[in-house]
Amino acid sequence: MKLAARVGRIAPSPTLAMAATAKAMAAQGIDVIDFSTGEPDFDTPEPVKAAAEAAIRAGFTKYTPSSGIDELRSAIADKFQQELGLRYDKSQILVSCGAKHSLYNLAEALLEEGDEIIIPTPYWVSYSDQALLNDATAVLLPTREEEDYAIRPAELERLITPRTKALIVNSPCNPTGATYDRGMLEAIAAIAVKHNLVVISDEIYEKVIYDGARHVSIATLGPEVAARTVIINGVSKAYAMTGWRIGYAAGPKNLIAAMGTIQSQSTSNPCSISQKAAVAALKFGTPFTTHMVAEFDRRRRMLVDGLNKLPGVTCRMPGGAFYAFPNIKGLLGKRSPEGTIASPTELANYLLKHAQIAVVPGEPFGSNNHVRLSYATSMENITRGLDRLQKAFAQLT
Ligand SMILES: *Cc1c(COP(=O)(O)O)cnc(C)c1O
Repeated sequence: MKLAARVGRIAPSPTLAMAATAKAMAAQGIDVIDFSTGEPDFDTPEPVKAAAEAAIRAGFTKYTPSSGIDELRSAIADKFQQELGLRYDKSQILVSCGAKHSLYNLAEALLEEGDEIIIPTPYWVSYSDQALLNDATAVLLPTREEEDYAIRPAELERLITPRTKALIVNSPCNPTGATYDRGMLEAIAAIAVKHNLVVISDEIYEKVIYDGARHVSIATLGPEVAARTVIINGVSKAYAMTGWRIGYAAGPKNLIAAMGTIQSQSTSNPCSISQKAAVAALKFGTPFTTHMVAEFDRRRRMLVDGLNKLPGVTCRMPGGAFYAFPNIKGLLGKRSPEGTIASPTELANYLLKHAQIAVVPGEPFGSNNHVRLSYATSMENITRGLDRLQKAFAQLT
């Protein structure tokens, strides 16, 4: 059957693919240690589950307004007001089936053939594929590990053409864990305003931030940048709710309305029960998040310190999210029983086969020198995993 050309431009999400392989191996009884998953290993907090149960019992099981229930949109508006000092009308907030779905609606509402969208790399894989699905061009902006993946404003400006429509900002960043400070965000905001770009600020990891740092949203840096920014967020990461599928977008009224229309013609409303659960998460979830992030912090140090002790590996301490992104360049060119390891993908395959360790190779994130390890896994797995990595790397010659 002849498929639409756009299908040929994209690939299945590689992070989900590696996680699926690891889960399949575990199901066969193989003792695989999984560092590939991009979700908290914590259970969804109790008040959230209780709200969902209550919603089911109360028969809150029908279609809701397509863009989300008023109660949830109000709770999201309150959150923006309280935490960031940003005022959004309910009409400026869209609730979707996950932040990924909000981003997709945004790509459809905003991008068309010939448009360019600038994506700092390393980057979360769906940004570029969603642009490609909507006939736009992803323009990658390289950043450097030794500069903590900071954006150089002059380099950003050089990539801007008359066709540039939007720019992605993802702080804290998946996969690097980099966080952008206020000064850098101010420089980016000034460029966005000067060149009339839409800023897409993916803040899904805003709460997963360490060392006493505070998340800065680019939308808080003045009315001019606020007017052109769409904040993307959701409950998946902060409240261990990946399966519930609730994300949201906040931004300019006409853009949010267009995204809502697209959603009304594609998925309709996000799950009614999950929406009630998300209200509870926003109201009662903070103690849970604080506890989870403190635990991630311990694991972060353990994993990153351990990785830095492995010959051929260096790893920066990530400032946010729950991923280590070690540089494994020192291992490339070494030989395994199957032959030379020339790329992160070959290293990931070697680790899966010979050490039963699942990591995500860097290539789909835009790096040929890194792999990504999630530390949303137990301390025990981290200890055992480091031990296995050490042995597996020692066998390379
Ligand atoms: C996990 C993730 C998302 C999407 O989360 P949803 O589960 O769809 O809400 C978006 N952006 C980044 C960077 C992520 O890591």
